[in-house]
Amino acid sequence: MTALEVRDLRVELDADDGVVRAIDRLDLALRRGETFALVGESGCGKSMTALALMRLLPDNGQVVGGRVRLDGEDLLALPEARMRRVRGGRIGMVFQEPSTALDPVMTIGDQVVECLRVHTPLRGAAARARAVDWLERVGLTDAARRLDDYPFQLSGGQKQRVAIAMALAAEPDFLVADEPTTALDVTLQAQVLDLLRDLQRERGLGLLLITHDLAVVAGMAQHVALMYAGQIVEVASADAFFRAPRHPYARLLLQALPGAGARGQPLAAIRGTVPSLAGRFEGCRFAPRCDQAMAHCTAGPPALVATGEGAVRCVLYREDGVPGAVGVAPVARAAPVPAAVPDAGVDADADADVDAAGPPLLDVRDLTVRYPGRGGWWRARRPDATVVDRVSLSIPLGRTLALVGESGSGKTTTGKAIVQLLRGRAEVTGVARFEGQDLLRLEGEALRRMRAAVQIVFQDPYASLDPRRRVGETLEEGLVALRPELDAEARRARVAALIERVGLRPDALGRRPHEFSGGQRQRIAIARALAVSPRLIVCDEPTSALDVSVQAQILNLLRELQSEFRVSYLFITHNIGVVEYIAHHVAVMRQGRIEEAGPADDVLSRPRTAYTQRLLASVPRLPGPGEREQQ
Ligand code: SF4
Repeated sequence: MTALEVRDLRVELDADDGVVRAIDRLDLALRRGETFALVGESGCGKSMTALALMRLLPDNGQVVGGRVRLDGEDLLALPEARMRRVRGGRIGMVFQEPSTALDPVMTIGDQVVECLRVHTPLRGAAARARAVDWLERVGLTDAARRLDDYPFQLSGGQKQRVAIAMALAAEPDFLVADEPTTALDVTLQAQVLDLLRDLQRERGLGLLLITHDLAVVAGMAQHVALMYAGQIVEVASADAFFRAPRHPYARLLLQALPGAGARGQPLAAIRGTVPSLAGRFEGCRFAPRCDQAMAHCTAGPPALVATGEGAVRCVLYREDGVPGAVGVAPVARAAPVPAAVPDAGVDADADADVDAAGPPLLDVRDLTVRYPGRGGWWRARRPDATVVDRVSLSIPLGRTLALVGESGSGKTTTGKAIVQLLRGRAEVTGVARFEGQDLLRLEGEALRRMRAAVQIVFQDPYASLDPRRRVGETLEEGLVALRPELDAEARRARVAALIERVGLRPDALGRRPHEFSGGQRQRIAIARALAVSPRLIVCDEPTSALDVSVQAQILNLLRELQSEFRVSYLFITHNIGVVEYIAHHVAVMRQGRIEEAGPADDVLSRPRTAYTQRLLASVPRLPGPGEREQQ
């Protein structure tokens, strides 16, 4: 049977701080009709593996050992001209960022037709008809009319659908898909995953799926390999991996996932970060983060030992994969690691502490946001666009309202309108009553005071932090503007306490944003929001760009802060697991309107509208612990 095999692959990158050993002796085998998932945190080598086997490494990277075989033929030894026919012809590729796959100066129709011209006998009208067919299959509406659109005329989700159509157009035997649905909302993600499953059934497509989303893996993959610091640390059938993960890292990753089952309790957060691959490792690479590490673990690198259903790289397992190699049995379930923030004395169930019945802290009525149409003598005037249409919602003190819905449903615009970030750019009407004042009508000094009480945290902390300023300056800046009653000494004391409160060391205050990881930058953004003692924080997808372990740290922090300071959150997200974990109430948005709203349990377990039912049905889910045991 046709197979894609990787054996003993080693990749190195020349970097400023020396040689980075990005992939270290990696093995995997993928047959047609199967899905093999490569999972792990950012920086562990997943994407580099995809680039290496397609021979698309960056200029500073090279394969220094190993084989990549397609039906026995060594791809690493092929002349580049033949390799070009393999790419897109026998192995398709989809990457997370569709802009890298699309040519900005070619129409999307021409780009799909070009793939067909290079790899199939189709030409002319037949090729255009096939291009329309593929674009329709990946869910691009009105595909025939859109063939002459350029990439800039498409949304991010539409561009990704075109990139997937291009990758599949020549009907390859294998598809290497690196986070193919991460940029898509859940309904579109479900549609693309269904398409890939159909192709596997119809044509025996083999899929190497690279993702950090374990729920997607559970729904798609037959085999799973977990990578850590450039190595595979566990490989198993998907059933075995989710039923009984063996490596401590695998167990912690699964425990870090938010969901209804973890509600009211801290999530297991993996301490520390993925290590730099620029140095040499003496022992187990996971040891600094492992809650089962012992002296034996750093004596030498653990080997990947076979288990009954795969292999695991950990000294807790004997050569036959049975626990107990060094006389220390692994615990059946690793104890949760607390978030790296000082103990706030939080009750196990923060919900008991908050006031559910009191008057709402924020009460929004008939919020409408309209963008006036633009035009001029050189082009026809576009009509006004109403992106938020008579939205009403309320949030009690110390509670969380999750605003969910597909991309473009108006969630972010609603959040920005409430904190007056659309001033001068859109027409905002309605009422947003907060502590007796209408937030939408505030001006001057009253608006300044409101900015201290209502803060916003964005998805991308890097874009929201000034790269030139040190963290201490950034945190103090808000205090100078919004808490003028504090003198310099009081400001410094508050900033020092805050940075510790969000789990960063005091020396972080003297560093700039680029010196931090994504999760640390999000902590800085949260510290900045907290500096001015807000009563309400609008959190706009604050964890969607983060790995699950970092997401767990941030969610723990937000939950602790709510318990400690009774902060209310308007939590904008498309992640239903996060909603189940953190939200007291849920409002579902669709095309600028609230489709359905109510207590989180009601909306999530007994959705009333067909749209909410469809939205929830599209969410990929991990089997719960009970279901895993039954598998
Ligand atoms: Fe943890 Fe030791 Fe196993 Fe590494 S070898 S994962 S440190 S128990």
